Amino acid sequence: MSSNPDDKHPKRDRATEIVHAGREPAAQFGFVNTPVYRGSTVLFKDMASLEAGRAPFTYGRKGNPTMRSLEEALCGLEGGHRCFVTASGLSAVTTALLAFARAGDHILVVDTCYRPTRQFCDEVLMGMGIEVGYYDPNIGAGIQALLKPNTRLIYTESPGSQTFEVQDIPAIAMVARARDIWLLMDNTWATPCFFKPFQHGVDVSIHAGTKYIVGHADAMLGVMTANERAAGLLQKGHWALGSSAGSEEVFLGLRGLRTLEVRLLRHQASAIEMAIWLKARPEVEDVLHPALPTFPGHDLWRRDFTGSSGLFSIVLKQTRRERLAAMLDGLRLFGMGYSWGGFESLAVPFDPAHYRTATRPRHEGRWCIRLHIGLEAVADLKADLEAGFQRLTGGS
Ligand SMILES: *Cc1c(COP(=O)(O)O)cnc(C)c1O
Repeated sequence: MSSNPDDKHPKRDRATEIVHAGREPAAQFGFVNTPVYRGSTVLFKDMASLEAGRAPFTYGRKGNPTMRSLEEALCGLEGGHRCFVTASGLSAVTTALLAFARAGDHILVVDTCYRPTRQFCDEVLMGMGIEVGYYDPNIGAGIQALLKPNTRLIYTESPGSQTFEVQDIPAIAMVARARDIWLLMDNTWATPCFFKPFQHGVDVSIHAGTKYIVGHADAMLGVMTANERAAGLLQKGHWALGSSAGSEEVFLGLRGLRTLEVRLLRHQASAIEMAIWLKARPEVEDVLHPALPTFPGHDLWRRDFTGSSGLFSIVLKQTRRERLAAMLDGLRLFGMGYSWGGFESLAVPFDPAHYRTATRPRHEGRWCIRLHIGLEAVADLKADLEAGFQRLTGGS
């Protein structure tokens, strides 16, 4: 396998790469898309080749051509060395953590991580004798002070779940690298389009493919991509844990990927337009969106990211639950539901204090709404929220 990522991934524009990467129509009788390969057993032609174990595919769980298509495409887009797909975003998170952490290790996890990631750390890793510490997303190079002799890895997610704190990933990476500590990052928000984890010192990048890669709210999928030094351990963990993805889901990931960039550019533009409009609303105390110049993490976001997706949060002035329920229950276009990254707009209420232990959120005690801005027309989305604000403030 080549050690220079440029040999493996010729320089083409991102938009071109998204369309062509991981496809080989000639190997599929000219059909444009790699089909769904279903299968467990792979037959070997003789005993010698079975023993050699060098066939491109050896067993369904370890990979098939559909999986390889998506893995190659995503690996190239992220600029990694090896990529593996898993059954869900959370299984990518847990598989990557288990691939690197050992009993007796100390690991540092960002306080604003995706809540099920925290639950896995608290309920499973701690039970296995792994010490978990949570750190302030604004810590930057100050993470040095939290390192212990047995610190094995740092787990980051930027921007932070729900509240969108932008981390200084290069500063954290510098500290980690100097001590040979693995740096894992959940890169779901930015997608492979808007943040290049390996250029910023990350060792393993994780995506909930369920979100923008699948992009249509119709499948669960996880992705783990490693740089060269992390690839061996990640592969061992992945194979040992058996966390592979179903072929149909992988196909839907490939199908979604081909339109990722055009969808994201629309999500980005609409979300920024909505964020600016919301920032000026009297009902809204604050808008938590990294692309807004007034947002505390904006400078870091501008330095390290090349775009923003459709997910951000607003902080409301109104604190009464029943008024908030009236606002949300009457929305016609924004659905209320978990997940995001599909074509549709979503709104979910949350209290930021429930999500962390090491730090206090800036807007403690306020109701917040996490919004996913879908592909609908912005004017219609504004009208839906505007009517909602009237219900919120008790107007007719
Ligand atoms: C949704 C999500 C996950 C988990 O993905 P699933 O496919 O739902 O398991 C992980 N990280 C982030 C940031 C997410 O939003």
